[in-house]
Amino acid sequence: MRVRYEGGFLVQEALKEVILDPVRRTPGSIVSHGHMDHLTSGGVMTPQTLEVLRVRRGSGTGVELPYDNEIEMNGFRVTLRDAGHVFGSAMVRVDDLLYTGDFNPEGGATCGRARPERVQTLIVDATYGRPGFSFPPKHDVESDLLSWLEMELANGPVALGGYEFGKSQELIALANRLGVEVAVSDKIADLADIYVRYGIPLRYRRISELAEAERTDPRVYVLPPGWLRPPLDDSVSWLGSIGLRSAYVSGWCAFFDYTRRYGLEAQFPLSDHGDFEDVIEFIAACGPRRVYTAFSNAKDLAKAVERRLRIKTEALLTR
Ligand SMILES: [Zn+2]
Repeated sequence: MRVRYEGGFLVQEALKEVILDPVRRTPGSIVSHGHMDHLTSGGVMTPQTLEVLRVRRGSGTGVELPYDNEIEMNGFRVTLRDAGHVFGSAMVRVDDLLYTGDFNPEGGATCGRARPERVQTLIVDATYGRPGFSFPPKHDVESDLLSWLEMELANGPVALGGYEFGKSQELIALANRLGVEVAVSDKIADLADIYVRYGIPLRYRRISELAEAERTDPRVYVLPPGWLRPPLDDSVSWLGSIGLRSAYVSGWCAFFDYTRRYGLEAQFPLSDHGDFEDVIEFIAACGPRRVYTAFSNAKDLAKAVERRLRIKTEALLTR
């Protein structure tokens, strides 16, 4: 099998070819998940991702393929596996090749987890693929976050900022554990509504439906990161004047300090990707003969895989 990056991951064998996560609408492609840098119309995707596509892009078409069902596509056998990254996210198996997409072997509160499987060829997400990129145990980060929320809620409403799709819904699930009311932006709610239709029990209200007198009640607001500080859109400018205590939640908080830059009270390194050691362990467990690394730290990860696992590895230059 040959792999190269050409506006998507192009997998070829003899006369057969298929493209994974293309940058633009490509019928006959395969789409791994609903983050905007992966999400296009027209491909094969999980039913969950197709619903996310319709909410995020307003419309869109795709061929639904539920997890663990095999289809034949352009002469290849294709199966989608849970990637543990966000709701509906998939790793793509094409014959004896596995493309992880964005993935997390540890999983999350609102999705399953990525499990390694034996393959000949592996295309692997290197977002945190640099030696030294390591997250504290997820359970500890979640406990810290919940303790902080409890402490701050004694004084009034609290805001958590995270990506609109994936992180925000994880934050709703976490805040629900405290039994406190959660209010979210309409876009976050539209996406969370899909989770609920699939049986994930998230409880939240829409900020747009809160009465003025309710705004300062102790509750957790889950907001897109851009709403954590002014200037805010007119419709929610009141968020800037109710004395919110705010925190940003992202894997990058393990390596960068956003609190001073954005004037926040706290930050929590909750990630929906595996860290460096998670990724190395996953690759070793797949036992591939050939590895391709992709995304932010592809070159660093490629070097590390060759050195530590002695597997021939190539970094793909994506976008
Ligand atoms: Zn992603």
